[in-house]
Amino acid sequence: MYSKKRSLQFFSYFLVVILLSSLTISCDRGTNAPYKRLRDYIGTIKVINTHEHQRQPAEYAGQKHNFYTLLAHSYLQSDLVSAGAKPLRSKLVNQGNLDQLWEKYGQYLDFSRNTSYYSHFLVGFKVLYGLNEPYFTKEAVGSLSEKIAENYSHREQWYDEAVREAGFEVMFLDQYWDNFNVDIDNKYFALVFNINQLVRSTSLRSKMTEKEAPEDQNIYKLAQRDGHPIKTLDDYLAYADKLFQKFLDHNTVCLKNSLAYGRSLDFEYIPYEKAKILFAQPASLISEPEKKALQDFMFHWAIQKSIEVGLPIQIHTGYLAGNGNTLENSRPTKLNNLFLRYPKATFVLFHGGYPWTGEYSALGKMFPNVYLDIVWLPQISREAAVRGLDEMFDGVPYNKFFWGGDCHFIEESVGALEFGRDVVAQVLAGRVKRGLMTEEVARDVALKIFRENALRTFKLEERMNRSF
Ligand SMILES: [Zn+2]
Repeated sequence: MYSKKRSLQFFSYFLVVILLSSLTISCDRGTNAPYKRLRDYIGTIKVINTHEHQRQPAEYAGQKHNFYTLLAHSYLQSDLVSAGAKPLRSKLVNQGNLDQLWEKYGQYLDFSRNTSYYSHFLVGFKVLYGLNEPYFTKEAVGSLSEKIAENYSHREQWYDEAVREAGFEVMFLDQYWDNFNVDIDNKYFALVFNINQLVRSTSLRSKMTEKEAPEDQNIYKLAQRDGHPIKTLDDYLAYADKLFQKFLDHNTVCLKNSLAYGRSLDFEYIPYEKAKILFAQPASLISEPEKKALQDFMFHWAIQKSIEVGLPIQIHTGYLAGNGNTLENSRPTKLNNLFLRYPKATFVLFHGGYPWTGEYSALGKMFPNVYLDIVWLPQISREAAVRGLDEMFDGVPYNKFFWGGDCHFIEESVGALEFGRDVVAQVLAGRVKRGLMTEEVARDVALKIFRENALRTFKLEERMNRSF
């Protein structure tokens, strides 16, 4: 009797174990176990973030902050404008009347609840502020504004906490608003030399207005101040050499250009003799095609210089931020002639070339010196990033990918990173489930994208004189 009861007990225990393990197996198979494991692993990687526009604390000293201060500097604002809102005015934002601001912008925020710009912005607040709502509501915006004001009242401490919470080890800083500044906080940032102004200014000689270049962005005034007045193209190039040296002395890790915001990415080869003659003419007398030719010459010069000093060049391709531009200017295949002409240069193409992700991927596949940075793509369209990256993984070896955030505030960068991690985990988990990749290799791919590819390609240990 006793032993029969024991064996019955044992049998039911055995049944429960079988039932539970078959349940676990079916969950594992049908759902997201590889995704979850990969996502958890990716969360442990100390991230090398290859592109940011974070402003330094001192620039915002004394300013009051609320939810709309961050919104006004976020990508999401463009979706509100796209939905019909007026751009956020800093005067209204700084007054901080939250009722009035919600009255004016609340419905446009609501219309944007479907977009990736909206979701990634929201996720940043979930991670850093513990926001527990599916959407921004008037009440949520009110309580977030209080916390934002509190955090930004001790901004340096807040910044430090947020960077640590996110898992950023270093962020590449592109100061497109202050191209020639080399004085940055090395605790968080690696210096990027944005060459937009250097290229553009060749065609603006003696005509540069304050709008085209503020005092400290006016290369002619800077050169004059440094005792190297620019009269000829040779003077210009000699001063450009000095600027390169200044950036190298401050451990710059790469060049960057986002010239597609103002012109086409088609950079024709212009011989030095032709550029010299064009440069000698007063800027007011040269035509638009001649201005383009001068800029083209200068960009080719910068590529040759990048080879000489061993710096990769990051190039904006695809979708242009804001609410009005010429999309075709940014088409990645316009750069094809440069890849053929300069096999020794290292080109890093940005943003998945969206919406030309296929063309972008093809360039990364064809050219050993063309690298792909999916920076910002998950925020533009999460689904385009998932589809695009999956397609890229079919074509392009995985030692050629990077990730960056491309944001002005740490809250948005944290949301960008969450989106980036999710996209990469989802694509890799899909490939594991379909038997295209082992989980071990998937982990290596993630580690390369978020960290190791950047360390190697940008020679960070050597360039930044620090160990990672
Ligand atoms: Zn950017």
